[in-house]
Amino acid sequence: MDALLPATCDAITYARAYTERLGWPVAPGHRYRPRRGCTCGVPECPTPGAHPPARWTVATRADELPEEEFGQPGVGVIAPALGFGAVTLPRAIGMMAMVSIDRRMRAPCLVGPDSVTLLVQPGTASVLGSVSAATVLTGAGEWLALPPSHGMRWDTPPWDERTGHPLALPHGHSLVRDVREAVRIGSGE
Ligand SMILES: [Zn+2]
Repeated sequence: MDALLPATCDAITYARAYTERLGWPVAPGHRYRPRRGCTCGVPECPTPGAHPPARWTVATRADELPEEEFGQPGVGVIAPALGFGAVTLPRAIGMMAMVSIDRRMRAPCLVGPDSVTLLVQPGTASVLGSVSAATVLTGAGEWLALPPSHGMRWDTPPWDERTGHPLALPHGHSLVRDVREAVRIGSGE
């Protein structure tokens, strides 16, 4: 596969990259429709397109991806927290944590309209659950909307942008200090 993703917001291309490169199961989410809102029908949906429908089935291999659904305009790409663990922070605090983490390592993270999400090794996110303001996602029951879902973008993608090889995910423990410090400064404690 090409190292670089084509300059596209194509959900199927991303879904393939997630399953093929990283082995992450993914599913189609709701759809974001300009001026008509989210297909969930909630007029003020806070995350248009970037959340799963009531019933959703994940594909674990690229050849299982429902191409037609992923081909719909504005469709979200949803991943259960199986191939990774995640910790979501309010945007300003998350940005601060990202800056200090960036000095030491390249840790995959994504930015949403109000939040920053840091990815860690599967099963290691719960150590961050003790940090106030942090929301931990871990296991099959939790999910994350991935780019190109509406409003979501990679700050550091989970693969090397030159080679396409997956980046190593950090252990949750290795981020605790940065996240605590960012929360402390961000909340003026
Ligand atoms: Zn919605």
